[in-house]
Amino acid sequence: MIHDKNLKSEIIENGISSYFISFVDCFVIALAFTNIERIKALYVQCYFFELQINTKNLNKFVFFLYMLRFLLVIHVLILVLSCTSDKVKERQYLTKYCVVLVIDGARFSETWGDSSFQHIPYLHNYFENLGIVNTAFYNSGITNTTNGHVAITTGFYENNINNSGQELPSYHSYFQDWMKKNPLLLNSAWVISSKDKLEVLSNCKEGKWKDQFQPQTDCGVNGNFTGYRNDSLTISHATKVLVKYKPNLLLINLKDPDFYGHQNNWSAYLNSIKKSDEYVFHIWNTIQQDPEMAGKTTLFVTNDHGRHTSDFQHHGDDCDGCRHIMFYAMGPDFKKNIKLSQSRSLIDIHATISEIMNLSNYSRGNVMTELFK
Ligand SMILES: [Zn+2]
Ligand SMILES: [Zn+2]
Repeated sequence: MIHDKNLKSEIIENGISSYFISFVDCFVIALAFTNIERIKALYVQCYFFELQINTKNLNKFVFFLYMLRFLLVIHVLILVLSCTSDKVKERQYLTKYCVVLVIDGARFSETWGDSSFQHIPYLHNYFENLGIVNTAFYNSGITNTTNGHVAITTGFYENNINNSGQELPSYHSYFQDWMKKNPLLLNSAWVISSKDKLEVLSNCKEGKWKDQFQPQTDCGVNGNFTGYRNDSLTISHATKVLVKYKPNLLLINLKDPDFYGHQNNWSAYLNSIKKSDEYVFHIWNTIQQDPEMAGKTTLFVTNDHGRHTSDFQHHGDDCDGCRHIMFYAMGPDFKKNIKLSQSRSLIDIHATISEIMNLSNYSRGNVMTELFK
């Protein structure tokens, strides 16, 4: 396995052949495949003319060449195996569209963790039979909004990223990966968010990716640093974008559960979870009414983080309340009516989306193979 995922993605991206095309590699390959018998024969000739060549050194050199040849074969084998090991199967997926809906800061104990499911009636009554619930899903990084969303979109847990929209993620997102592959499909990837600061999800600081291949954004009142807007507006905008552009990749952030949690307003917090549940139903119905998107869309519903186990007003540490979040997924490539309790986390969404949308897998997360039919 290659442990450096950046290197691995470069190798996959540029092709194995170009990886070898460097002067040093060519030299090593040439040396490894030198005709060893010929070298021995040359040595015998030299010896015949009484040149001063040490037998010990020749044997050492011949041994070195055999070792080099052996190591090169192992190297190629490891490279080929590591490039294919994360794939579920080499196949075409039915999914052509992928929607991630993030309900900001809803605690698991008020969603799937509440056995009455009173705050998520649509997810429980309508969606549960159509898809997969994982009750052991976590934010395994910093349990703040930007960190949680960046984990989903880039596949990396970034501990130190600023949580106020003042810093771009270090690595490119699956949106940029998609736009690089589909540069002419200008409206095919969207980030639509109630929180203005999440506009940072559309860009990154990473070398050749910075300011390149960006998705469309519609965040907050009017972009980064203009303030939050109501979830009802966000859903209205998302609906228009779905109908007009049929985006292949869409991420929606709903802020209200987090917003009312911070206000210490328990009933508004619960109501906004219920409202978010209704929005999931609305978004899914919008998709089903589109003959192109229906049957080809995969939906993920999750949270960026939860809230403290003992204090619903705040979040941000590693208590179970902050880490434990909801996971629901449905789509044409996924099983139906399954409840899992396999420990997974936010970055695995990135890996799984990269898999079903045929994007390069540089994620630190793992493809959730248990979801697939
Ligand atoms: Zn949040
Ligand atoms: Zn906590």
